[in-house]
Amino acid sequence: MLIIGAGPAGLFAAHELSKNSKLSVTVLDWGREIEKRTCPAFEDGKCIGCKPCHIMCGLGGAGGMSSGILNLRYDIGGDLSELTKSVSKAEKLVKEVDDIFVEHGAPKEIHGEESEEVEALTRRAAAAGVRFIPILQRHIGSEYLPDIINSIRNKLEKQGVKFMLNSKVEQIGKGEVTVKGKRIHTKCILAATGRVGADWFAEQARNLGVNLTHGPIDVGVRVEVPAVVYEPVVKVNRDPKFHIRTKTFDDFVRTFCTNAMGWVMEERYDDHVGVNGQSLRAKKSQNTNFALLVHIGLTLPVTNTTAYGQSLAYLATTIGGGRPLLQRLGDLRGGRRSTWERVGRGHVKPTLRSVTPGDISMAMPGRIVTDIIEGLECLDKVSPGVAEDSTLLYAPEVKLYAMQIHVDENMETNVPNLFVAGDGAGLSRGIVAAAATGLLAARGIIAKSKA
Ligand SMILES: Cc1cc2nc3c(=O)[nH]c(=O)nc-3n(C[C@H](O)[C@H](O)[C@H](O)COP(=O)(O)OP(=O)(O)OC[C@H]3O[C@@H](n4cnc5c(N)ncnc54)[C@H](O)[C@@H]3O)c2cc1C
Repeated sequence: MLIIGAGPAGLFAAHELSKNSKLSVTVLDWGREIEKRTCPAFEDGKCIGCKPCHIMCGLGGAGGMSSGILNLRYDIGGDLSELTKSVSKAEKLVKEVDDIFVEHGAPKEIHGEESEEVEALTRRAAAAGVRFIPILQRHIGSEYLPDIINSIRNKLEKQGVKFMLNSKVEQIGKGEVTVKGKRIHTKCILAATGRVGADWFAEQARNLGVNLTHGPIDVGVRVEVPAVVYEPVVKVNRDPKFHIRTKTFDDFVRTFCTNAMGWVMEERYDDHVGVNGQSLRAKKSQNTNFALLVHIGLTLPVTNTTAYGQSLAYLATTIGGGRPLLQRLGDLRGGRRSTWERVGRGHVKPTLRSVTPGDISMAMPGRIVTDIIEGLECLDKVSPGVAEDSTLLYAPEVKLYAMQIHVDENMETNVPNLFVAGDGAGLSRGIVAAAATGLLAARGIIAKSKA
């Protein structure tokens, strides 16, 4: 059988298949070995557009070059219990994934364990109507990740798994794939293409008649506050996740990707701009930033969340004159645009300067703007100062995810013997969840091979 993609989903599926079945397994990946993956943008900040992109492609998949944080919760990075139909089964899967990482060298130490500080923050948040999600995390660290990935590869090869790297699958047919113009026949295919291969896979899936739909997206702003304001929270958890239901619309809003003493960054796409955040080990800013995102799903007859998210990003890019928008929270609440002069009056100095001070309410629907303001006002009760007038908001921060491929409990699509796993199928959004769906798909394939 063939596995497309050597990210966590593909590798963990191969792990399970080679351990618990006699099926012959070949893993194909567009990218290279982990030690041959290098990114010039990591060194001098300039993306030269490598094909394939070494950050996203190759042995270990996306995040193979990151610091590799394992979020040890079944409902972070996707809700595994929706696939297993049971919380305890989902928790067990997370443990299995974690055990395999530890077996291959992940550090023993765990962060975020129960403590008085965690309990106090949970209580303070609950009193403000906010859910704080305590997460156990294992930080692998970028220096250890290549050794762990190679250790998994070596074990898989000993168990008979073959790897074909630098091999982009050009087309998927029924019972075959095309690589470098040559057809390879196979009884069973597992597509684990990750986010980088999601659009390509969605096209293949449509051609094959696979059932798929648009999943929900997340739209919002990057919030920047003085580091001292958010310090009590990041002291308890480096990347605190708060879940909020807003008062007016009962919408789901969450915090995501906190960068203590970090920088807001611009993301440039072909036809729009966006924002993100980063923190550096060696250099610290005076500010902390995090994403505040509104979860948006659309219902029939219009379900194309991707087109909706893109329209919002284009609109924000237009009103920002090709740059991200920057607005003080006080200006947004007061119904006026921000100007450099008004931003200068506040006490938060923006860490991203290539922005246009303006009015986010000209770019985002009233419902989203209300959700953002109400979300921040709730958070202000957990971390006083977050909803101060000087708080800076950058827009747009838009998270588009892969099309959701319809699967049964074995991760098999409606096209027989075509299985899917991981981010590329819209089933996960993180290392642990992707690996867990790989295990599920492998078990589905084994069960079918025995039937
Ligand atoms: C910079 C960065 C940092 C991250 N840090 C973290 C983190 O700390 N913690 C966390 O939980 N998550 C993190 N993530 C997200 C995480 O890496 C992904 O959620 C996870 O890797 C998804 O696993 P996957 O196996 O589904 O897909 P991927 O890891 O994306 O792997 C898919 C693989 O498929 C291959 N592929 C795609 N199309 C084809 C094709 N046509 N032919 C052949 N091969 C193909 C690609 O080359 C790729 O190697 C990070 C992501 C990035 C980009």
